[in-house]
Amino acid sequence: MIKTKDSSANASNGTIGASMSNPYCAKLKSGFTCLGGGRVRYGRQVASPHKKGDKMVSGIVKNIEENAVHDGSGIRALGFMKGCIMHCRWCQNPELIRPDPEIWYNKVLCKECGKCVEACPLGILTLDVNNKFAGHKDECNLCGECLKVCDPGALSLVGEEITSDEWVKHFMRYSLYFNHGKGGVTLSGGDPIYQPEFSAEVLRQLQEKGVHTTIESALHYPYADVLKVLSHCDTLIADIKHMNSEKHKWGTGVGNKLILENFKKLDRDFEGEIHIHIPLVPGFNDDDENIRRTADFACMLDKVVGIDLLPFNTLPVAKFEALGVDWEYKGVEMQSKERLKELFEIVTSSCGKFSCTTIGGLW
Ligand code: SF4
Ligand code: SF4
Repeated sequence: MIKTKDSSANASNGTIGASMSNPYCAKLKSGFTCLGGGRVRYGRQVASPHKKGDKMVSGIVKNIEENAVHDGSGIRALGFMKGCIMHCRWCQNPELIRPDPEIWYNKVLCKECGKCVEACPLGILTLDVNNKFAGHKDECNLCGECLKVCDPGALSLVGEEITSDEWVKHFMRYSLYFNHGKGGVTLSGGDPIYQPEFSAEVLRQLQEKGVHTTIESALHYPYADVLKVLSHCDTLIADIKHMNSEKHKWGTGVGNKLILENFKKLDRDFEGEIHIHIPLVPGFNDDDENIRRTADFACMLDKVVGIDLLPFNTLPVAKFEALGVDWEYKGVEMQSKERLKELFEIVTSSCGKFSCTTIGGLW
């Protein structure tokens, strides 16, 4: 839902560059476009079987989680999409960073039988010196032969291509939430703005059916893409991870200038509500000064109606162990109740104009 168009939006739209700074650009599959600066756009247009001459867009998604209650109003269907421009050190969903579908390996489930290595027609699965599965190279063509022979289910495909029409149909299976749970659909990820055409088309169709729409985004995207998606959105949930740009870059790989500028532009153009999420990362952004600066920034924005503090989530330890990866935040504990209360009071006492909640131990 957008009031006006920003002239800078058009300037930055569709700037297809030849930058190879994104590690995935060298092996982009059909439908992906390298936009430079570490960004890849996915959004293949395919002929619509329903409307002659019309186009629908396909995107890469992971799954839909039902009964979500922390990701917008009411009970929601939460769609996870692939692709994220940031690389947060504490990332909880590393399987959603890459934009394309990929094979993931679960070390805990693996029986080290070696069947997958034999089955791979490209010979890209490897065993280490101890004859244990050692992973695969990036040339995988997703033929699925390794999945067929892996009886314990240690290998899985994360991500699939789907058309906007198909995904909307999936969401509509949860229409009971929309009518009786006062909920709707939330697109999350990854980051929904990573695939702007696809997200915009999915949200447009949902709104056309009267479904309340929300996205969760980090907003580190050209304003043209932000506008495109939010034109079909009722509520925006956006992260502010740090008010200091250098520290933001240390934690996420990118500075915060574009994000804060987008907040200000949306305060002018977006007609829906904005909720700010602060994922509290111990020792990174959970100090008094950063929370106060974030709240002060939010106070200047008319469209911001709430700030949610998200205590550090330690559950991904198990996920990283399954992947055989050392998580940088292993052993780091969630903020205490007393500390959360202090931070909560900093937010609510800032200008007193919006609500503040703490959301579980999850984000
Ligand atoms: S999906 Fe196919 S190409 Fe990829 S690792 Fe498995 S068997 Fe090999
Ligand atoms: S990943 Fe599956 S098929 Fe491959 S060695 Fe492990 S258990 Fe066997």
